[in-house]
Parts: sequence; structure tokens; C-alpha cells
Amino acid sequence: SGTTPGMEPVPDEYYVSPEPSSTAGNSTARQSATLLMLARNSDVENAVRSVRELEDKFNKKFNYPWTFLNEEEFSDEFKQRVSNVVSGPVSFGLIPHDHWFQPDSIDEAKATAAREKMQKDNIIYGGSVSYRNMCRFNSGVRAIVLIAVPHIPILQQFFYRHALLQQYKWYWRVEPDVHFHCDIDFDPFKYMEDNNKVYGFTITMYEYFATIPTLWDTVMKFARENPQYVSPNNAMGYISDNGGQSYNLCHFWSNFEIASMEFWRGEAYSKFFETLDATGGFYYERWGDAPVHSLGVALFADKNQIHFFDDIGYEHNPYTHCPRGAGKWEKGKCACNPDRSFDYDGYSCMKQWERIW
Ligand code: GDP
Ligand code: MN
Repeated sequence: SGTTPGMEPVPDEYYVSPEPSSTAGNSTARQSATLLMLARNSDVENAVRSVRELEDKFNKKFNYPWTFLNEEEFSDEFKQRVSNVVSGPVSFGLIPHDHWFQPDSIDEAKATAAREKMQKDNIIYGGSVSYRNMCRFNSGVRAIVLIAVPHIPILQQFFYRHALLQQYKWYWRVEPDVHFHCDIDFDPFKYMEDNNKVYGFTITMYEYFATIPTLWDTVMKFARENPQYVSPNNAMGYISDNGGQSYNLCHFWSNFEIASMEFWRGEAYSKFFETLDATGGFYYERWGDAPVHSLGVALFADKNQIHFFDDIGYEHNPYTHCPRGAGKWEKGKCACNPDRSFDYDGYSCMKQWERIW
């Protein structure tokens, strides 16, 4: 897909770190997938801790490659400390300038006024431009960057040439400072592939309305004008309490996502993102990638393609999902308290999720 303005030409060849010989035997069983983290150099402590935890609980058995993305060059310290704890290949990508920063089409005076108002109203990240860049990037541009960004070598002497463009189908989004509380003894990517899923989540909750005042109307206008993209078996019952008249603010908490980039790169979601982006709502309001992804998936995928990963004990401050299905907590040797799982919190959208089944 070459539809994103400013996209660099895709290089013929580029480098990734080598497959350690001890794990190379696993590669045939692996899906086309990467563990993916967007991070700043200043995130290094928490980034390394998240990587180490997911390696211990899951990836040391599966050896999926990690991909790190940043709009600045990763520091040597970041690259070395991360490389020290991974069990498979790792690559560090630089996000092209135009894929990250506020587009010239945005009216800066209008955007500034919106930020100042949100800041005054104490809306979380209301005054931040960089947070908006991050949300826009995660909403729409990331899947394309993962095709196009040349992977930057970290340990030159070990690098080998990849003749083929590495184009992952699946990613698992991981953030700095998250926790995995249980053993993950199955391959979630394989589960997604085998069961024809496109999007997996662990936590669902309400969005702050003040960050997305016009998002729902924009989304519904797109859906009305492009009915061919709307799935006949969509998840409208999860995102609306009144048959689509208004948004109930439910979304999948996107700091955890296991999802198909083919879905994001597909025609329906690409046009959807371009339409949302053209309104400037990522900057004039503060649209998060969580509601944008969630509304796109809920409308354009079959609801059976969305998967609740109950088995994965996951924490992002201040909330934890702890497995609750029969025997799952025991099987995963989970350290979390199942009675305190966010699923039962009044702020959780688990009830909206469950009612569509
Ligand atoms: P929150 O979870 O909504 O509070 O947002 P975070 O601060 O955790 O940011 C979400 C993700 O984007 C994390 O993986 C951060 O490391 C990353 N991130 C946020 N802002 C930036 C930024 O300006 N540059 C880069 N490279 N990563 C960022
Ligand atoms: Mn976070």
C-alpha cells in the first residue's frame, strides 16, 4: 500500500539481526509475526523490564522477533540492553519524519487552542502534541512503517542480509512498564491464524468523551457512505447501547493488542483512517488509537474475528486482567489476584462485550 503521503521508497534489501543458532529450529513453526514496542530512549528501564517479562512468560519458548520503533535514533544503551534480554532476532527502526509529526495540513492555531482548552480542563495528555503524534501513528501509519522502515543493525559483525522484504502479518503490541502475570504456553499468533481472527484484547473500558467529541459522527458518516465495508456480522452491540445512534465509549485498551496488520493495511481500514485523518481530529481533539482501532474493528470485521485473550494475565498501570475461565488461573500459574481482575470493575466494558454473544 503506497497511499500514505511521504512514504519513503521501500529498500530492496535490508538488515535484521541474526537468528541465534539455538533457536533457529523453531522458526518453521512460527507465524509471520513480531513483538512490537514503540518507545523513547528515556523509556529504556521500563522497556527492558517488559521485554524480560514477556520473554520469561512466553517468548523464550517461541523466539519471536522483536521490533522497536522510535521517531529518534535508538541510543546504543537502549539497543544493547534490549538485545541482552531477547531470545530471538531484534530490530530497531526509525520512524520516517512525515509518519510521526503533525502534518502541514493541520491549522496550528486551531490545534493550539484545542490543546490549551483541554489542558485547562485537566484532560489527560490534553496539552501534549507528542501524545497526539503517537496516537495518530498507532492508529494508521504503523502497519505501513513496519513494511517500509529499514531495520537498523545493532551488532554489525553478526548481521546477515535479508534478500526479501520482511513483511509481518501479525504483531503483539507491548509497552514499557507492563506486566505478564501468567505462563503463556500457547502461541497466540497461531491461535489468531488458525481461528481466522484479526484482533485480540485483554482489557476493555470506556474512553473519555472529551477526547473524542466528534469521532463517532465522523465514523458513522464514513460507514453510511461506505456500506460495503461494514461487516454484516459486526460488533455494533458492543460499541453502542442504542443500535448505533450513539457511542457508549467502549473500546479495547490498545496498549495490549495482538492483531493482523493485513486488516489495518486492507482497503476498508486504510480508507477509514485516511478519512479520519483528513478531519484533523487527531490534533483538533485528542483521538486515541484505542477508540479508532476499536471502532474500525467493531464495524469492519466480523465480530467472531475479535478475540478476548482471557488466558493472558496482563497489567498496565493501573489495571490488570487476570484469567477467570475455569482452570485458566491454575494452568497459567498466575501471580495476579483473579478476584481483582478489571473485568469486574464498574469501568470495564466486559458487560457490553459479553452481551453480544
Ligand atoms: P498511555 O499508556 O496512554 O499513558 O501512554 P504511554 O505514555 O504509555 O505511551 C504509549 C506508547 O507510546 C508507549 O509504548 C510509549 O513508550 C510510546 N510513546 C509515547 N510517546 C512517545 C514519543 O513521543 N516517542 C516515542 N518514540 N514513543 C512514545
Ligand atoms: Mn502506557
